[in-house]
Amino acid sequence: MSQPDVIIVGGGIVGLACARELAACEASVEVLDDGTRPGAATPASAGLLAPFHNAKPDDPVLTLSIRGRDLYRELVPKLRDETGIDAHLWTGGILHVAFTQAEVDRIRGAIAWQRQQGLITDWLDAHDVHQRAPGISRKALGALLGAEDGALDPVAFMEALRVSAMNAGVQITQGQRVDSLVRNHDRVTGVLTTAGPRSAGAVLIAAGCWSGRIAGLPRPLTVEPIRGQMIALEWPAGEPTGIAVSSAGYVLRRGDEALVGSTMEYAGFEPSVTVDGVTRLLDAAGQLYPALDGRPVRRKWAGLRPGCPDGRPIIGPDPVLQDLWYATGHGRSGILLAAVTAEIIAALYCKQPIEHDLSGVSPSRFWAY
Ligand SMILES: Cc1cc2nc3c(=O)[nH]c(=O)nc-3n(C[C@H](O)[C@H](O)[C@H](O)COP(=O)(O)OP(=O)(O)OC[C@H]3O[C@@H](n4cnc5c(N)ncnc54)[C@H](O)[C@@H]3O)c2cc1C
Repeated sequence: MSQPDVIIVGGGIVGLACARELAACEASVEVLDDGTRPGAATPASAGLLAPFHNAKPDDPVLTLSIRGRDLYRELVPKLRDETGIDAHLWTGGILHVAFTQAEVDRIRGAIAWQRQQGLITDWLDAHDVHQRAPGISRKALGALLGAEDGALDPVAFMEALRVSAMNAGVQITQGQRVDSLVRNHDRVTGVLTTAGPRSAGAVLIAAGCWSGRIAGLPRPLTVEPIRGQMIALEWPAGEPTGIAVSSAGYVLRRGDEALVGSTMEYAGFEPSVTVDGVTRLLDAAGQLYPALDGRPVRRKWAGLRPGCPDGRPIIGPDPVLQDLWYATGHGRSGILLAAVTAEIIAALYCKQPIEHDLSGVSPSRFWAY
C-alpha cells in the first residue's frame, strides 16, 4: 500500500475492529502490529459481554456498553457468514450472585436504578437461581440476572475481524513495532517503525496497555497495564451452560472448560501467573460452583488490560495534535466495547452523524489545555 489514509498501531480486537469499520467508509487502512507481545489483552480475555458488571448510576459508558453488547448479535453471525469463523456468541444471560446480605442490598439497589433507566435486569431469589443453575452454591442468597448478557470467544472473533478487514482491503502488517510518531508542526504525518518510516494521513493509537510507550505523543497517555490472571478447569458434568459472577470472580463455560477469572493487579508490564492469583481464582470458582472445588487446573494464563484512571476508554481525535486518534484504555471491557468503539471512530473520521454522548470517553477529558 502506498500512503494509507490511516495507520492503526495495534492489531488487537480494538485495532482490528476499527480497521474494518474505517475500510467500510472507504478509508484505506494499514494495521501495524508487532505481534510478539506476551500479555496482549485480547487473547487472554474471557470475552464476557457484561455491561452491568461493576456498573454505577450515571456511568457515561453504560449506554455505550449496552450498544456494544447488542451490536454483537448482528456482527457475529455476519462475520461467520462472511469468513466461516464462528465466535460462538452466547446470549443466555449472566447471574451476578450475592452471598451476603450486604451484597443483596447492593445488587437490589443496582437493579432499582437500572430499571429506572429502562434497563433489563431482574432479581432472582435463591430458589430461582438454583432452578436456572443447579450447580451454584446453596449459600447463594439470590442474584441479579442480566438476561441479555453473554459472552463470545475473543480469539475466534479477532480472527474473524482480521479476515473480514483484509477482505475489505485493509493491509495487516505483523512483526513491525511502531516506535514513535512522525510530526510536522501541529499534525501527525506518520510513524517510525522497526522497518523504517511510514507516512499516513492519520494515525490511530490502539496499542492496548503499550499505547503510552509510543514516543512523540503530545502528552503522557494515561493508560497503564492491569494484570488479569485466569485459569481453566473442567466444566462440571451435567451443569447447564451458564455464566456466574460474584464479588470474588466469575466462571463461564467455553467448550468443556470452566474459565475462571480474573485478578485485577497493578504489576507493571509483567504478564505472569502467580501462586496467589491461582489460589484466589480457585477460591472464587469453588464459592460459585462447589463442584469445581479441588478440580485440577488444566491451563493458566495472564494478560494486561489497558487501564485508564477513571475506568473509561479514550476514543476520538487528539484535541490539539491534528490527525492523531485514540482507541485505547478499554480496561476490563475492551471486548464488550470493541465494536461500538469502531462504530464511533469510523463515524467521527468519516464525518457521519453520531448518536452517543462521547464526553465521557473523549481524549479532551484529560487533555483540555
Ligand atoms: C484476563 C483478562 C480477562 C478479560 N476479560 C474481559 C471480558 O470478559 N470482557 C471484556 O469486555 N473485556 C475483558 N478483558 C479486557 C479486554 O481483553 C481488553 O480491554 C481488550 O482486549 C483490549 O484490546 P486492545 O486491542 O486495546 O489491546 P490488546 O489486545 O492488548 O492489543 C494491543 C496490540 O497492540 C500491539 N502493540 C502494542 N504496542 C505496539 C507497537 N508499539 N507497535 C506495534 N504494535 C503494538 C500488541 O502486540 C497487541 O497485539 C479482559 C482482559 C484480561 C487480561
